[in-house]
Amino acid sequence: MKNGKSIPEPEVSEMNLIKLIEEFNSEAKCREYLEGLRWPKGIECPHCKSKEVVPVKERDQFNCNACQYQFSVTSGTIFHDSHLPLWKWFLATYMMLESKKGISANQLKRTLDVSYKTAWYLCHRIRAALREQNPLPLRGTVEVDETWVGGKARYRGRGYKGNKVIVVGAIQRAGPLRLQLISRADRKTLHKFIHQNTLPKTEAIYTDELKAYRGIADEDTRHETVNHSAEQWVNGKVHTNTVESVWSLLKRSIIGAYHKISVKHLDAYLDELEFRFNNRSNDWAFRDALMKLVSADKLTYEQLTNADYGTQKTPNGTKNAPRNTKALS
Ligand SMILES: [Zn+2]
Repeated sequence: MKNGKSIPEPEVSEMNLIKLIEEFNSEAKCREYLEGLRWPKGIECPHCKSKEVVPVKERDQFNCNACQYQFSVTSGTIFHDSHLPLWKWFLATYMMLESKKGISANQLKRTLDVSYKTAWYLCHRIRAALREQNPLPLRGTVEVDETWVGGKARYRGRGYKGNKVIVVGAIQRAGPLRLQLISRADRKTLHKFIHQNTLPKTEAIYTDELKAYRGIADEDTRHETVNHSAEQWVNGKVHTNTVESVWSLLKRSIIGAYHKISVKHLDAYLDELEFRFNNRSNDWAFRDALMKLVSADKLTYEQLTNADYGTQKTPNGTKNAPRNTKALS
């Protein structure tokens, strides 16, 4: 890409597999596309921000005339130090967005012809990049619900929850979804989640009859419930069917695509599901995902496999995944 050419090519909206293969069948094409996304106003030195940069002959790099720094479009990004060709990144990202239930590392391993470890690491870096960094608070009418996620334990009754975790979700009607892993579904935790994810003037919050939600209403916000234990699912406009459809998606992905998800990484899967859900009508989802990838920070394999990864992910530290690597089957 030449300096000054400013817009990402429009022909790659509404991506499909054929377009993907046509548009991004070489490293040079992928690289050029990423350059457009990373530097829409022209290539700039990541070190000193100077635009006095020149391509380095026969290398995919640039040299900054101001500070002599040599860099490429992937320098300092999540692609950094990756030995994978960019088209494999592009294809993996496409498959992750395209598949309703998500894609397992095993499937990616076969499709991209890479090792399991490479596929696993790749999925996680893409997920980390897709994470919503500054989620806007929800408004209007918001459904809130919580669900247990996890497998059946052998020799235990149905009520056994020792190998399960709780996910709470809020969704604005015709708007975005926010998900979070919580350690208990008590009043304090659920109220905190609602306050952090909705505007104070949210018109209405719809939940089921769980006692822990009581008291969430105030003068600006109505709280209405459906009584699931009395088999009441819809009460006029009041229902939590939208957020419950997310639960069935989440559970089908865990059973269908991932088979086993470690609790430690469940938050990352939630981020991925959130991105897919929130971009379900976005024709530019693929471009927007790549834009996030090329602006996301590096994530090393060591960071990812560190015991603390996933326990503190948002700036305000609200994601509180249990420190536990037990697999959910
Ligand atoms: Zn520079």
